[in-house]
Amino acid sequence: MTTGMRTAPNEFPNTDRDWMVGARCRQVDPELFFPSETGVIRAAEAKTVCALCPVLAACRNYVLENRIPYGIWAGLTEQQRRAIRTQQNRNKV
Ligand code: SF4
Repeated sequence: MTTGMRTAPNEFPNTDRDWMVGARCRQVDPELFFPSETGVIRAAEAKTVCALCPVLAACRNYVLENRIPYGIWAGLTEQQRRAIRTQQNRNKV
């Protein structure tokens, strides 16, 4: 059952979103990906959805390239994405 469609914010520079057609998160509650302060269990559920998503790699590229700061994307928390970006920046030096 489709309960909602997760969409990307329009303010980010990478506008290629064709891959989102195959997103598994389109078939679950979008709020699963934006846990509250006590939403550790919901975040874990979101990561489970991402783990089986056929567009995980495209999603990960998109979210890191666009520096999307909130929510669970590509199985990564906000903190995990920041850590990856920090490491990527260090590797550029
Ligand atoms: S990897 Fe996760 S957040 Fe990204 S499209 Fe798939 S289900 Fe959605």
